[in-house]
Amino acid sequence: MSIRETERTYALDLFPRRDVAIVRGEGATLWDDTGRSYIDCVAGFGVANIGHANPDVAEAIAAQARTLVTCPSVFYNDVRARLMQKLVAVTPAGLDRVFLCNSGAESIEGALKFARHVTGRSEFVCAIRGFHGRTLGALSATSAYRAQFEPLVPGFSFVPFDEIERLRAKVTGQTAGVLLELVQGEGGVRMASREYLEAAREICDAAGALLIVDEVQTGFCRTGKMFAIEYYGQTPDMLCVAKAIAGGVPMGAVLCGARIENTRGIHGTTFGGNPLAASAALAAIEFMERHDLAGQAARKGARLRTKFEARLPAVVREIRQVGLMVGIELKVTAQPYIAALVDRGIFVLPAGPTVIRLLPPLVIRDEQIDMVAATLLDVLATGGPVVGSSGQRAATRGAPTHMSRDRGRP
Ligand code: PLP
Repeated sequence: MSIRETERTYALDLFPRRDVAIVRGEGATLWDDTGRSYIDCVAGFGVANIGHANPDVAEAIAAQARTLVTCPSVFYNDVRARLMQKLVAVTPAGLDRVFLCNSGAESIEGALKFARHVTGRSEFVCAIRGFHGRTLGALSATSAYRAQFEPLVPGFSFVPFDEIERLRAKVTGQTAGVLLELVQGEGGVRMASREYLEAAREICDAAGALLIVDEVQTGFCRTGKMFAIEYYGQTPDMLCVAKAIAGGVPMGAVLCGARIENTRGIHGTTFGGNPLAASAALAAIEFMERHDLAGQAARKGARLRTKFEARLPAVVREIRQVGLMVGIELKVTAQPYIAALVDRGIFVLPAGPTVIRLLPPLVIRDEQIDMVAATLLDVLATGGPVVGSSGQRAATRGAPTHMSRDRGRP
């Protein structure tokens, strides 16, 4: 059986799939099973910030695998200790304690429990178009994808994003926490204003509620800062992170402020903070610092935007960009253009029905960015989506691409 047939046979049918079997990656380049290369602006849903097959992480994992893979948090561990110290050092002052887990949704679940525990309240206010994960607690905090799973966890309400008075009206003395993304990723790449976060902090303080910021997608240099919260000059009570934290190895974390106390025994995890993932995270974060990936994301994001804006196709309604988190809002449905881009050797993501989202590895090379911009312009200007029954244009499939010699290093 081919790779495609085997997966189709055995995988639970959950994901709409592109007709590509990826077998290798390096930097911002991916290769399929026929040897064709692609520029990757998906990065495993915003995970591969330091590039695919990063050698530093590969070496760290290999060495740690030979030393100690698992070690529950009832014992102390050298690598986990160093990672927690590093996480506290790279996040805003005031976030001094760390809960380590294994995914973004798990970090949200942890934060919700911690907030309920320390406030003794059970209500949360979240933003419309926010996305916090698919587990039942995280889904309860998410305004979409929930219809068939009701009843969810009670006590969650939703307000329009970035509207101060609507938030003020919803937060009460029963509110345990306000949970927000700073740049809504799944919601279409929409950035909150400085005033909004300042007001959110003030509203939470006045009500005795906790401010919980979800940087699962924006964290670790994606937006041109190590964390997007640095644009705002505020300190949340909890900061949820995951995705890029460990160079692709599953890991999540909640960074906690002083109000999160007396927590012994209230939560736990088997794999969270295991030395294998911790060693990968240490190597990944050190790589980000050494190569100034935040600065690279800021510079490369501006380059992409400038190239792209030079001759904006009529089908584009708006571009929203923060570092290398880019949303191109179209006046029409995005999916056919996304399929056409795959045919042209570029992977991108949707963010809602009309937005093309780009989350490339931050090590993407300038010539790759220029190729992405040129191809996007071409596909959007020439009405790329002349689609066949498979949803993809057959004519260009299998053609050699511009990327085959690229090494994808910063
Ligand atoms: N929060 C945000 C902002 C996300 O973008 C995601 C995933 O896309 C999650 C939470 C959930 O993370 P995970 O898929 O690792 O559970």
